[in-house]
Amino acid sequence: MRAIGIDIGGTKIAGAVVDEFGTIVKHDRTPTIAAEPQVIEDSVVAMVQSLAEGEEIAAVGVAAAGFIDASQSVVYYAPNINWRNEPFREKLQDRLGMHIIVENDANAAGWAEFRFGAGRLVSDMVMLTIGTGVGGAIVSGDRLFRGGFGAGAELGHMRVVPGGLPCGCGAHGCIEQYGSGRALLRLANELADAGGIGQVLASVRQRKGVLTGQDVSELVTIGDPGALSALRTLGTWIGQACASLGAVLDPQLFVIGGGVAQAGDLLLDPIRQSFLESLPARGYHPEPSFAIAELVNDAGVVGAADLARQYAESI
Ligand SMILES: [Zn+2]
Repeated sequence: MRAIGIDIGGTKIAGAVVDEFGTIVKHDRTPTIAAEPQVIEDSVVAMVQSLAEGEEIAAVGVAAAGFIDASQSVVYYAPNINWRNEPFREKLQDRLGMHIIVENDANAAGWAEFRFGAGRLVSDMVMLTIGTGVGGAIVSGDRLFRGGFGAGAELGHMRVVPGGLPCGCGAHGCIEQYGSGRALLRLANELADAGGIGQVLASVRQRKGVLTGQDVSELVTIGDPGALSALRTLGTWIGQACASLGAVLDPQLFVIGGGVAQAGDLLLDPIRQSFLESLPARGYHPEPSFAIAELVNDAGVVGAADLARQYAESI
């Protein structure tokens, strides 16, 4: 049975009809033209109706950034859309007459990776998505972990430095401030300021006025010592966070996703090394593997569709 997955992002809404093997059989996308709840709702309804034409659809899963309650119905809060305690599932159900679930976007992406990507052979997995910020998802005992109120697995806001850098969440010292794409840029700028191995970073910054993530990625690719050093420092922070997560959750696998993960082993190597150096009781238990995410752009829609299909089968 096929299901529809919708991923509401900051710049676009992506949608797809997905089969039970995680394969996209039809897809659609539209720009997110406004953060207005009614506009977003109308766009999602129109997209679902268009995708469902001529298909037998079991259910619809909608993924969005934000806090969603444990019954996958109400969006408590969304950073990009003006949703506060929005009963989004009920509204969509009323308009579409289909089974609906609403899921946090990082959870949906992690679930897709668990079912059809790098995590398909394990029962326990932690995914860290290294984009502008740090997102996360936890699968434990073949189940997606949501927490008691549905707001769990906010791995980017795990504290790694007490009293550290201020974070957008209001706390200080979150891993998002040390292990994200934004943190990589900060590290690269610090190296550019310091001269030495940062001189190529400094010359690019001077020529363009500002360093971008793309610049740092390109310099990593050509082996620039400054860019590689910034990436290693980033990996070291992420590895430390993984050691704490490993002690709590004991996963067989850590999956690293997001734009920065395109660096592959150049990022995984320092993560692994720092993980092993920070791992409590090392040597007394099996150690997890590290892998790069496989379902890059489609993970949100594929995961949302699969979670929706499983929900429909469970009722
Ligand atoms: Zn935070």
